[in-house]
Amino acid sequence: MSEEGLSHQMQEDRRFPPPPELAAHANVTAATYAEADADVEAFWAEQARRISWETPPTEVLDWSNPPFARWFADGRLNAAYNCLDRHVEAGLGDRVAFHFEGEPGDTRTITYADLAAEVRQAANALAELGVVAGDRVAIYLPMIPEAVVAMLACARIGAPHTVVFGGFSADALASRIQDCGVEVVITADGGFRRGKPSALKPSVDAALESCPDVRHVLVVQRTHQETPMTEGRDHWWHTFVGGQPTEHALEFFPAEHPLYIMYTSGSTGKPKGILHTTGGYLVGTSWTHWATFDLKAETDVFWTAADIGWVTGHSYLVYGPLANGATSVMYEGTPDTPHKGRWWELIDKYGVTILYCAPTAIRTFMKWGSDIPDGYDLSSLRLLGSVGEPINPEAYVWYREHIGHDRTPVVDTWWQTETGMHMISPMPGVTVGKPGAAMTPVPGVKVEVVNDEAQPVGNGEGGYLTVTHPWPAMLRTLWGDDERYVDTYWSRFPGMYFAGDGAKKDEDGDIWFLGRVDDVMNVSGHRMSTTEIESALVSHPKVAEAAVVGATDPTTGQAVVAFVILRSEAGDGGPDVVQELRNHVAKEIGAIAKPRQIMVVEELPKTRSGKIMRRLLRDIAENRELGDVTTLTDSSVMDLIQENLAASP
Ligand code: ATP
Ligand code: MG
Repeated sequence: MSEEGLSHQMQEDRRFPPPPELAAHANVTAATYAEADADVEAFWAEQARRISWETPPTEVLDWSNPPFARWFADGRLNAAYNCLDRHVEAGLGDRVAFHFEGEPGDTRTITYADLAAEVRQAANALAELGVVAGDRVAIYLPMIPEAVVAMLACARIGAPHTVVFGGFSADALASRIQDCGVEVVITADGGFRRGKPSALKPSVDAALESCPDVRHVLVVQRTHQETPMTEGRDHWWHTFVGGQPTEHALEFFPAEHPLYIMYTSGSTGKPKGILHTTGGYLVGTSWTHWATFDLKAETDVFWTAADIGWVTGHSYLVYGPLANGATSVMYEGTPDTPHKGRWWELIDKYGVTILYCAPTAIRTFMKWGSDIPDGYDLSSLRLLGSVGEPINPEAYVWYREHIGHDRTPVVDTWWQTETGMHMISPMPGVTVGKPGAAMTPVPGVKVEVVNDEAQPVGNGEGGYLTVTHPWPAMLRTLWGDDERYVDTYWSRFPGMYFAGDGAKKDEDGDIWFLGRVDDVMNVSGHRMSTTEIESALVSHPKVAEAAVVGATDPTTGQAVVAFVILRSEAGDGGPDVVQELRNHVAKEIGAIAKPRQIMVVEELPKTRSGKIMRRLLRDIAENRELGDVTTLTDSSVMDLIQENLAASP
């Protein structure tokens, strides 16, 4: 895949070396890479010492039955103890674990001692409901501290949790409950969203009509709205959990004991139930949280602005930061409630030093204009992170300039629900940042970009991203479906993990993501990257967001079809905007990339984690019936787009 489309380099050629002050005290240095390269397993065995083990492991990786990995298998530990109690025992009980900010402005300062006590109470409550090690518990909550308490209470008793995003429908909740055989659900009366209470419990009631195995529901009181309770099945959290003792006998589990099941975002199809286990996951997330973000737990205030119902919330809002004894911000609501400066106000208020969010949020802030963040003191920030999609060079530079005031490195972290932890990312004290590139694998991770024949591509060439050596936080299987696990990830290139993403190596051998393999277009025999054409469109001053798909075309095989949202200043863009944008793409990338069609829309279909669902746009571009829409943030978006297109000439 070395055709012109894929080897094109974006116009942005600025480079950003690490700030000298950061590099001088960086957690990760060039020596860390050398150490990991010398012996990966010894490297991870070393990192396993970050964790407290009841029985320290003597084994590292067991790959005797590939692709079913076992890490640290003879070790025993408790994940919740590692995240909470051990810090309290070390004298850090008064350290703030979370600065919680509710959307209406209510706040809670939760210390490690507070959180540990609440988790022990919740563990007692679950035990009283008959939950034992190995039972699955569904958590369907807004972004409130009880979500963290619920997850860690499950971990404490060895009951794998499955967190379902609070914005999902009753059907989406029911299918996950059924898929992993849940018997207890933890939910709330509702949560606050866009200035209003929004009910949750009615969706649980509706879901449970088709889930007869659910015996108990714990209900957190958040909004105080009227909530029907089913006698004998439903229990209020504040009385049932609040009435439990804060003492709870600690149990230890083998490293390979299941920790949680998380369903993927559903960008490419029906969500998959990813299974993570305890020891390797905790080692991988705590080490990468410390390394990628150059965490200084005593002084940093860390903020993952992502929902707990997404893997980013699991690894970098709960398990990684808490295992590291970090102080985090947790925010319940949307960035524009009650005003568009809410995030910047929170950074200013809590002195946030590290912000981690998705490119979709950054592009939204760009659309709103830099005068909004300019109104706040953001000088506490020292590092910025991005996750979820490739970050367009334009968005990277804006983020660095307007939020980071040109002082902060930007780390673009590539990983997946399946990988559990960061896999490809700059290290802020070592890497010279390139806008748009995810750069190199993190120490301890081995990847290769390969062609159709599984051969590594050379510099300047594109192909498929694969992982060539097991890593500690890797998924162990798909829940209840070993065969689909093998087929999906390990069959395309035997012996290598197939991530499903297209990538290229630039002239320096650094990695750029090109989009999902399912989305790669083939136009007259040229393979074209969705990401590159989208970034070219976003680099035009009139464009706020863009999504590109390949639609079947009688002459070219596939043709490029683009959907764009214009920036508010651009108005409707004028009659010639489509031609102007087509020419812009031709100039930036080449005539072959010129979209056949550009449709101006108001919204794009996105998953809850902010990823564009191109498969639905492809359905539209090819006049097909829409596929699975259960993980869309807002399913009315598709109606809007269809109406919008029907109305245009
Ligand atoms: P499904 O697997 O159900 O289609 P999904 O892949 O969107 O859903 P996630 O596990 O949430 O589910 O997302 C992982 C994917 O997100 C990656 O495979 C990649 O396509 C994209 N991604 C995440 N971070 C980055 C990044 N920094 N750069 C490029 N792509 C990224
Ligand atoms: Mg995926």
